[in-house]
Amino acid sequence: MISAKFGPIVKRLGAHLLGSEQLNLVRQDSFVYHTLLHEMAHALGACYVRQTSEKNSLSINEALRERYSTIEECRADLVGMVFLNLLADRGFLPEAIKAAAAVTFVVNSVRSLRFGTEDDYSRGAAISLSYFVERGSLSSDRNGHLHVSPERLERHVRELAEMLQDIAIRGDYRGAGELIETFGGIPDKVERLRRTIGDIPIDLEFLQEESAV
Ligand SMILES: [Zn+2]
Repeated sequence: MISAKFGPIVKRLGAHLLGSEQLNLVRQDSFVYHTLLHEMAHALGACYVRQTSEKNSLSINEALRERYSTIEECRADLVGMVFLNLLADRGFLPEAIKAAAAVTFVVNSVRSLRFGTEDDYSRGAAISLSYFVERGSLSSDRNGHLHVSPERLERHVRELAEMLQDIAIRGDYRGAGELIETFGGIPDKVERLRRTIGDIPIDLEFLQEESAV
């Protein structure tokens, strides 16, 4: 599945979005690891809001209401990246995967934007991309292609992951709204490229043969 998404979608998107010198950093292994670690970040996240008193427990989902899924998908993306960098720092993954993960993550986030403005993956991806542009780890070169500064992006991933963790653990509905309001739009330099993606597929469609049970 991952290979089927990587070659025809992620790699082709990378060729559209990036200058040729960073295209070799769009790598399937980074895509696989990040996808797995995104799911683990969901599973390892807290479920309940940390409270000062011992009163009724409130789930993060209940506290963040309609903002929950956007925050949670974004949180899983960012915490998944933190995990990946941590595994590399501790020698469980090769050091070189960090730069590839940063670039592949940016390309994959643009892929998520294509799911539409009402989609939680898409909204989460917009927050990450806007934050990176705002903080300066994602810029564009003179041909309008995206350029990623992997080391700076690693720092910004950490910062944003901490903000999202904090919103989740405190069940901060207002903070979630402010973050979505501030960073939820698609940055211009990304939007210009997104409009000209053309016929690269958005996602896979599963066709399962009916079988006798
Ligand atoms: Zn998820």
